[in-house]
Amino acid sequence: MHIDDIKGVCFDLGNTLIEFGPHQIKHVYKALEDGLIELFGSCDTEKLKSIRDRQIIAPYSNGFKENNLTELCEELIRELYDVVPLPDQVDKLFKIRYESFVDVIEIEPDVLSLLNRLKERYRISLLSNYPCGRSIRDGLAKIGLADMFEAVVVSADVGYVKPHALPFETLLNKFGESAENCVYIGDNWLADVQGAKRAGMASIYISQHLPYEKFEPEDGDFEPDVRIEHLSELENILL
Ligand SMILES: [Mg+2]
Repeated sequence: MHIDDIKGVCFDLGNTLIEFGPHQIKHVYKALEDGLIELFGSCDTEKLKSIRDRQIIAPYSNGFKENNLTELCEELIRELYDVVPLPDQVDKLFKIRYESFVDVIEIEPDVLSLLNRLKERYRISLLSNYPCGRSIRDGLAKIGLADMFEAVVVSADVGYVKPHALPFETLLNKFGESAENCVYIGDNWLADVQGAKRAGMASIYISQHLPYEKFEPEDGDFEPDVRIEHLSELENILL
């Protein structure tokens, strides 16, 4: 990675700019559980967790096709209660997923100031894997990032998750930068490091937060250009 060639700095969101680990996932699961109890009178917590855990990693064994949040809610009701879900029930779960996500995410003041300083020197953008684009956009607005990025792409809008090429191509098109002039910063070895390198971007791999789902390196994988343990290290690398 030649720093003088870098014009665009592209970020992952969860566990890169904000923490989205076991604590946040637990908050969303609890909100779902409470909502399901309200709708159906009871909820098998263990079964809920196992279905959700399976749904989270499903795109990675399904040709990287992104989940549809409405279908995820339908599947959850069908498998938990062995009933055909009613539209109102699906809508309610959808709303709970959306609200609990926006509610639980937070950003450190240091991250905001780092992004503002990076913006003085680079163009910045965001590419996130998430099955609901509205959740990410409203979540960004909640934490003060509504106007931070020149381009925001969410896997749900594209239909495929990173490391698939399409989310990266969509981001670069929207961003108007070529891959070789961009560095991608993310915490997920498969989605972020392999995805960015295959797309022709430089890669910075961050291990600051504990991710809920983890992918181990495999033979023949790309190495990241740089490894960091804390986002603040970007100060020395990029500024
Ligand atoms: Mg991430």
